[in-house]
Amino acid sequence: METVLCPTCKKEVKWDMKNPFCPFCCERCKTMDLGAWASNAYAIPDQPVDFDELDRLSSQNEDAEKGKDE
Ligand SMILES: [Zn+2]
Repeated sequence: METVLCPTCKKEVKWDMKNPFCPFCCERCKTMDLGAWASNAYAIPDQPVDFDELDRLSSQNEDAEKGKDE
């Protein structure tokens, strides 16, 4: 049986297609890794926040809210 290292805790895990958490050893490790990936994906450290774009997006949302009321 082939083994892999759990990306989160580096424990040896049997490579088993029946393991729903593969290549992670357990659900906790899988969730932790996805959480880390998500927080990295949403952080954009090298780019300043584009406030004009945020304003545009938020006013679009307000328009959508108004549309619902009418
Ligand atoms: Zn693990």
